[in-house]
Amino acid sequence: MKLPRVQCPGCKRDVAVAPAAGQLTKGRLWRHDHPGLRRDANGDLVSCSRSLEIVDLPVGGRQMELDIDEPDTAPGTETGEAYALF
Ligand SMILES: [Zn+2]
Repeated sequence: MKLPRVQCPGCKRDVAVAPAAGQLTKGRLWRHDHPGLRRDANGDLVSCSRSLEIVDLPVGGRQMELDIDEPDTAPGTETGEAYALF
């Protein structure tokens, strides 16, 4: 799966963003290294301070808005017979 990319607000690099559970327009920045400091003195990986932050997904990831003219009355609704499903 190819993830969309957004610019990290911290280090300004393009970082993959994964959809966040339950939030259609939000995503979580992929973990990425701190700019210029990959490992600390102990040899542990250092993450950018904005790693895993919740950000807005790029526009392409949002739900499309359809512009459809709906008729005032749909066929069959005047009697109710066609939609008496319950
Ligand atoms: Zn960053």
